[in-house]
Amino acid sequence: MFPTTCPVCRQEFTRAGWATLCDECWKRLEPWTGPACSRCGLPFASELAAASTEPLCADCRREEFHFDLARSFGLYKGDLRTVILQLKFLSRRRLGLQLGRLLAPLWVTIRGSNGNELPLLVPVPLHQTRERARGFNQAEVLARGLSAEVSSLCGKKSLRVAARCLERTRLTVPQAGLSLGQRHENVRGIFRVPSPESVRGRTVVLVDDVMTTGATLSSCALSLKRAGADRVYGLTLARATPMFPDVVAVRPLDPVDDLGQARG
Ligand SMILES: [Zn+2]
Ligand SMILES: [Zn+2]
Repeated sequence: MFPTTCPVCRQEFTRAGWATLCDECWKRLEPWTGPACSRCGLPFASELAAASTEPLCADCRREEFHFDLARSFGLYKGDLRTVILQLKFLSRRRLGLQLGRLLAPLWVTIRGSNGNELPLLVPVPLHQTRERARGFNQAEVLARGLSAEVSSLCGKKSLRVAARCLERTRLTVPQAGLSLGQRHENVRGIFRVPSPESVRGRTVVLVDDVMTTGATLSSCALSLKRAGADRVYGLTLARATPMFPDVVAVRPLDPVDDLGQARG
């Protein structure tokens, strides 16, 4: 079952077949190129914050996070938010594979800092119950899209997606509506690495759809480091931040939003 109209702008596709979004909508999915925290990638609203010698956000100055570096493709608003909701709640796997390719330029950024070793790509896991209900883990689909793109760009065949490397041991309440402290508490200690030898001494790149406070990525990173991972990076498609609210959020909420934002 392939859509015949673009799920974002509702225009009918001019060519049949494998389109997931129309060309115009793809072009509108823009990366964030403004100033950002050098560690967690939080976009800054002004150039001033980035002009200091070490442009770090408040959380990173307090060393809140267990990952070494995180980057997001764009802001969680507008069309990028729409396509992420489509991917998640309409199980649009092919769209997810294509969206994963957008992470490839970020891959190059983090690859600069860890030499020649080939990292493990680890999707942020859903709880088994939620994955079964949804039929797939959107983070895993994004990781597979990224892996395919990096492999075709760099000719690397063995960029492995280690989808079972990390487990979510508890079904948690959605992070949306929780305070920063509650978000960290909600995901504290909920991830485990069933086979620590699979990550020992390795560089791990976590992949997820949305990063909000960073609590989820940080909790994953802590488990991986306790299991012996050397470095842990995080790549997400979108960064949600109150500095850049979604202007279309004043519309009545999509029904899918009730389920949304299960991540931190
Ligand atoms: Zn469109
Ligand atoms: Zn930061």
